[in-house]
This record gives sequence, C-alpha cells and structure tokens, in this order.
Amino acid sequence: MKAILNELKRMTGLIKRPLRLMEVCGTHTVAIFRHGIRDVIPKETALLSGPGCPVCVTSVKDVDAAVSMSKMTGVILATFGDMMRVPGGEQSLNDARSEGADIRIFYSPMDALRTAMEEKGREVVFFATGFETTSPLIAATVSEAERRGVDNFSIYSTHKLVPPALKALLDSPDVMVDGFILPGHVSTIIGSKPYQFISSQYKKPGVITGFEAEEIIEGIFMLVKQIYDCRSEVEIQYSKVVREEGNPAAVSVIERCFEPCDAHWRGIGTIPGSGLRLREEYKRFNALLKLRPGVPDNPEPAACSCGDVLRGIKTPPECGMFGSACTPESPVGACMVSTEGSCSAYYKYGAYRG
Ligand code: SF4
Repeated sequence: MKAILNELKRMTGLIKRPLRLMEVCGTHTVAIFRHGIRDVIPKETALLSGPGCPVCVTSVKDVDAAVSMSKMTGVILATFGDMMRVPGGEQSLNDARSEGADIRIFYSPMDALRTAMEEKGREVVFFATGFETTSPLIAATVSEAERRGVDNFSIYSTHKLVPPALKALLDSPDVMVDGFILPGHVSTIIGSKPYQFISSQYKKPGVITGFEAEEIIEGIFMLVKQIYDCRSEVEIQYSKVVREEGNPAAVSVIERCFEPCDAHWRGIGTIPGSGLRLREEYKRFNALLKLRPGVPDNPEPAACSCGDVLRGIKTPPECGMFGSACTPESPVGACMVSTEGSCSAYYKYGAYRG
C-alpha cells in the first residue's frame, strides 16, 4: 500500500491539476470515511459522492404513494427497514405506522410473500426499492408468487438502474468528474459491459472497485494511472467477484419480469430509461394498477441540496442545513436518513467539524 500511495502521489504531482473522482455507490462513500481513505491519498484527488444510495434517490412522490397505500383498508405495506424514516411530502412510513397503518419491515421480499400466503384476506404490497443488486430478488419473488398462484401479493416498483444515471451525470454541464469509482455490488449482477459508454463515448475512465481499504486505494490508483497514461477504459479492480459478463442468470431473472421505464430520482429529476417496471404479463402484481392510490403532488423540500450532493456538485457541509436544521436525528433530506447517504456519512465521521 505504501508503494502504491507513493506512486499515486508521484502521478498526481505530474498530472498538475486537481482531480475529481466520483464514488458512485453509497457503500463506497461510507467505506471511504470508515477507512480514512481521504487522509492518505494526495490532497489533489477529491472524492465526490454520487447517486448510488437507493434510499437517497427514492422520490418524495414514491414515498407518498407508499404511505397512501399503507393507509388503505386491508393493506399490509412491506418494506426494507431503511425506507421507514425517509421523508415524504407530508409523512414518512414511520409516521404512517404510528398512526395505525400496518407497515412491516422485511429483510427479504420472499418473507413478505410468505406473509401474503398466511394472511389471505389482506393485500401485501412490497415497496420494492434499490438498484440492480436487489431487483433480481424482487423479480424472483414475483415469479414465485405467479408459480404459487398468490393473488394477494403485489409490488410497488421504484427500482433504479445505475448506467442511465451515470449517462445523465455525464450529459449535465455542471457535473465535472474526471473518473468513476464504479459500484462493486451492482457490477456483480450487470458486469462491466453496460459501463463501456463511459470510456467509448465520454472518454472518461472507470474502475469497478471493492470495499476494503486496500481495494479502494487500488481502485483510485488504477483510475489515476489511466488519467496519467491518457487512457479511458472500464477496468475491474474487484475481479474476485465481478466478471465482464456479470451474472447472466440474475440478469435473465430481471429481464423476464421487468422492463426499463423512465424514473424520477430525488433531487435530480426524471432520467429516461433509468427505472424498472413490471412487464405486461406480470401487471397483476403491480400495486399501483391494483390499488390505484391517490398520491398528493408534494414538492421536494426547497432548501435541501440532496440533488446537488447526489450529483457531486456540492459536498454536504456546503448545504446550509447540514448539522443544524438537518441531522440524523432530525433529517430534512433522504441523504441524511440512510446510513449510506453522503450527508449521514459526513456527519457520522465528523467531517462537519471540518
Ligand atoms: S444536509 Fe440535509 S438538507 Fe442538506 S443536502 Fe443533506 S439531507 Fe438535504
């Protein structure tokens, strides 16, 4: 590591300009803080957080729809636990539960399906959030519901896809990134091919990176080396897990059940083709079509800068509410709620103290 860090220092000195590298994934953001990576890499290499925290990018409207469905008679709303405190326009799922809505936390959608099979008189709606890492599991659960003929189970899919979000960032004139630390978990599913446009079309380097301190430092080294060599390729540092072709079985489960659609990202807006919706043949499992909830049209909190934080334009301490009006105990935006959110990571690891 010492040799790598010395070489990193030498190269950044010769590149003679500050570098802006984006860690796309929230797990990387937290790991970078936890391992103190910022303290050991050259100060000319800035690390920016990206849009890869699924809780942070779930829109106000999607939370409002989930809250609305949770209040319908006979509905059990099933969710991953980290969605409970995400603010909607008026309420979070936590607020709705405290008012009597039947909202249950599950670690696996298969457990929610089991609940549906046990409680036949109720409709179990799974609030399906996450990136390509969780969508195979949801797709497998929907297939299983179909195989077993379960008719009181449905999902509200707000799944997001990483490559279209990166394309949107690269198309945005105010986002300045020299290279991407690409997500390890998502890439175990999709492989490296869906990122090729980053290098071929936009001439930027990317490195799919693991989560240990040594792996992150090596990923940063590989990125800087590409910039130093005037190359732009998509490389795999996390080769112990990630293959170029990804996991074809998982991808085929996703594709059987879902098709791409436009999706709204909190603070960023609508990104074409960046979401997943159930295919026509599975539409009876679509909770929106089944329950048709009324969803209020609430705006996102005006003073929250989550959108700029998620695009690497601002760091959390540059938001006026960071650490004062907005803390993990009393979050204003989703980036402060999730343990993988940038604002939460900056706060937890003391960056607010400067
Ligand atoms: S500190 Fe709070 S209000 Fe500011 S960007 Fe982060 S989540 Fe939003």
